[in-house]
Amino acid sequence: MSEKACHLISPPPASATQDTFGRVVDYLRVSITDRCNERCLYCMPEGYKGWERKPDHLTAEEIVRVVRVAAGMGFRKFRLTGGEPLVRADVPEIVRTMAAIPGVEHIGISTNGSKLGVLAQPLRDAGVGTVNVSLDALDPAVYRRITGGDLNAVLAGIRAAVAAGFERVKLNCVLMRGVNEHELWPLVLFAAEHGLPLRLIELMPVTTTDVLTEKNFMPVSEAMELLRLKDELIPQPDWRLGFGPAKYYQLKHTGARVGFIGAMTNLHFCETCNKMRLTADGKVRPCLGDHGEIDLREALRHASDDVAVRELLASALQRKPLEHQFRGSYQPCRPMTAIGG
Ligand code: SF4
Repeated sequence: MSEKACHLISPPPASATQDTFGRVVDYLRVSITDRCNERCLYCMPEGYKGWERKPDHLTAEEIVRVVRVAAGMGFRKFRLTGGEPLVRADVPEIVRTMAAIPGVEHIGISTNGSKLGVLAQPLRDAGVGTVNVSLDALDPAVYRRITGGDLNAVLAGIRAAVAAGFERVKLNCVLMRGVNEHELWPLVLFAAEHGLPLRLIELMPVTTTDVLTEKNFMPVSEAMELLRLKDELIPQPDWRLGFGPAKYYQLKHTGARVGFIGAMTNLHFCETCNKMRLTADGKVRPCLGDHGEIDLREALRHASDDVAVRELLASALQRKPLEHQFRGSYQPCRPMTAIGG
C-alpha cells in the first residue's frame, strides 16, 4: 500500500468561506444532471417521473460561472455529481474549463462507474483528480436488484479508472440490512486486492422516508461487528483519504482500508462539515439534510455581472444549518438524484 495515500491534515486557512458556526466551507458538490442510467433503491423511487426539464438544467457555461465565483470566494474543492454525471456528454469540457480557473485546487467526480470504461482517461486528462464509484454489491444479481444496472460495466469502469492513474479511486457502498450485508466481506477483499479505499455508508432518508426502515437500516457499528468476525479493525484517526467525514480503519490481515460514514448514528457527523451543494437546476443547498435552498439560476440568466451570484452564495453560507434534520422532522421534497449525493 502506498504511503502517499495517508497524510496529516494541515491547519485550515482563515477564509471568507466560514459559516456562522466557524466551519470552513470550501467544498462545493456540483450536480450537473438529475438524469441517471441506473435506478438505485435508495435514490430513485419506483417509477420516478419528476425529472427537471432540460432547459432548467444549468448550462456548461453557467456551471463554470458558479465555480469561478465560488473559487473567487475561497472554495477550493469541487466534486461533480448527478444523478449520474457521466450521462452528460459535455463533462470532459466542463472539467477542462473548471481546471483552468484560479483557486480550483481539486476536482472530483462521484459516479456509478458504468461509463468510466470509456471516459476514465479523457476525464483524467481533462483534470479530474479523484473518482468515487458506487459499488453496493459484487454479486451480479444483488447488484442488479439494488441498482437495476450491469455490474460488469462498473467493474470494467473501476479497472479503467485505476489504469488512468487518478490521484485516488474510492468505492462507496450504501449499507442495507437484508439486501447487501453478505456483500460486505467480498467488497472488502475486492478493495484490498485493488488497493482501493472502501467506504460503508449509512442509509439516509434523502429521497423518501420509506427507503429507511427499522428492518433495512444498518448502523455502521453493525457493519464493523460483521467485519470484526473476519479481521481486526485498526483505527486510523489521522487518515484523510479525501475531504469527507469518513472514519477510517485498516484491516490487519487483508490490509484493506475501510471508511465508515455514519450520518444517522454519529451525533457529531456534521460538526466538521465543509460543503454546500449546487443542484442541476441551479439551487445552492447549504445542507443535504435540510430544505434550505437559494436559487442562483435567475441571477445567472438575468444578471450581467457576478455580484448577485456571489451575494446569493454568501447568503447560503450564512444560512447553513448546524446539522441535518434526518433524525428529526426531515420530509423529503427532492429525490437524491435531484440534489446530488
Ligand atoms: S448533513 Fe448537512 S451539515 Fe451534515 S455533513 Fe451533510 S451537508 Fe453537512
